[in-house]
Formats: sequence, structure tokens, C-alpha cells
Amino acid sequence: MPEGDVVYRTARRLGRALDGRVLVRSDFRVPRYATADLTGRRVLETVSRGKHLLTRVEGDLTVHTHLRMEGSWQISPAGRRVPPGDVVRLLLANTEWQAAGVRLGMVDLVATAGEHRLIGHLGPDPLGPDWDVAEAARRLTRDPRATIGEALLDQRNLAGVGTVYRAETLFLAGVSPWRPVGEIEDVEGIAALARRLLHANRDRATRATTGDPRPGRDMWVYGRAGRSCLRCGHRISRGEMGAQPQERLIFWCRHCQPGEPAG
Ligand SMILES: [Zn+2]
Repeated sequence: MPEGDVVYRTARRLGRALDGRVLVRSDFRVPRYATADLTGRRVLETVSRGKHLLTRVEGDLTVHTHLRMEGSWQISPAGRRVPPGDVVRLLLANTEWQAAGVRLGMVDLVATAGEHRLIGHLGPDPLGPDWDVAEAARRLTRDPRATIGEALLDQRNLAGVGTVYRAETLFLAGVSPWRPVGEIEDVEGIAALARRLLHANRDRATRATTGDPRPGRDMWVYGRAGRSCLRCGHRISRGEMGAQPQERLIFWCRHCQPGEPAG
């Protein structure tokens, strides 16, 4: 699933293709907005907020999209063939570029003044201009019984962290994902670490949290179940966190990240 760094780069790619240009085509292929037409309107900007994308269009309109599990925005010169089949949910084009929203998880068209109804619940965005580490820590610790692993993935606490950055952040912090947040002294330090990792990768096409982009060396724990910890040599563990059907993968090193509850 795309995490904050990928969504941030997607916003910049969309911005380079669409910002400041007048739309000559808009094709919403979702029933709710089948008749919506943005043709003739200028795109003002596209910004990311956590995993959400907001494309603001003149006339107080915002196109809200979310990549969810497998969505992407494919940008190509105007007039090129659009991906076939029913995978395209939204097409926006100007005279130079076209942007095809493929398998998007969400498509909404709202008043710009009403964006908060879609994204107002989100916690601070580590890649946003209004990042507030103290506020992120406050939200992460709201329920002291919640595990830090679950709290980090809750977008109401911190917007943009997914399973990759959750696992890597907690490894670097030396904290077991299963520890309740109420037992952790430096939650603010964990939020700051998550921000540092996302920030370091926001301009990179190849994600690496170790500083080494080589395959198999690029992540400390994520995707490395059963292999040796790059720091201590113990086997990396893999599990699932969260209630069904929302459970999501977690990877950790039992030696570097102690404090797992018994049983
Ligand atoms: Zn280790």
C-alpha cells in the first residue's frame, strides 16, 4: 500500500502536469460524479495530506483521491492511449498532459471550503507544512492501552504512516510493536523518527530506511521475516496486528525490540 512518501511524490507529479493549466477534459468514471465536468477550469495545485490527495481547481472545487491498496496516478503526454478496461476511475487532461487515476480507492468532488469533512480527522502529517510532533505524540497516547504498533497506523494520530514505516520506525526506536503506548516513555521520539524516515525518502524513487538502497539491505525488518537482523543477527519475526479483517503485517526483532507481553 502506498505510504506518505509515495503519495507526496504523486502530488508533486500531478502538480507538475496539471498546476496552472486549464483542463480540456475531465472524465469521472465513478457513478456518483458521472455528470461532473471540470472542463475549462484551471487547476490551482495538488497537495498531499497523509495518504490523501487534494487537487484544487478554480471555482472553489477540490478533487479528492486516495490510492488505497493498489491505486496510482499515471501521467502521460496528452492524446496518448489511456490504460484500457475499467481500471481508470478519473481522467484529467490539459493540452499538454493527461493524468489517469487508476484503481483509485476513493474519488470525491467537494467544495474546497469543505475539504475538512474528508481530511479533518487526520493527525499531523510528517511531510506537511504544519507538522507538530507534540500534537502527534498527544494523539498517539490518547488510548494508553493501545499498542504502539496499532497507534502508529491509525491515521487520526499521524497521517501517512503505513506498515513499512511503522515497522522500520519501531525497529530504530528499539521498541516492541506490542507495547502499550502508556508504557512508553518517549512517544514523541518515535513520532520524530517516523517523520525523519518519511522525510529522507520523500524524494527517492527507491525507498531505503537503512541508508543502503541495495535489495535485501534497504530495510531493517520489513519483509525480512526469518532472516538475520542487520544489527544483532537474531531472526526477524513476522506477525499480524489489528482486529480482523483489518489486520496488517508487522515485522520486528525480538532481541532489538524487547518488551513483548507474554502469551
Ligand atoms: Zn536485532
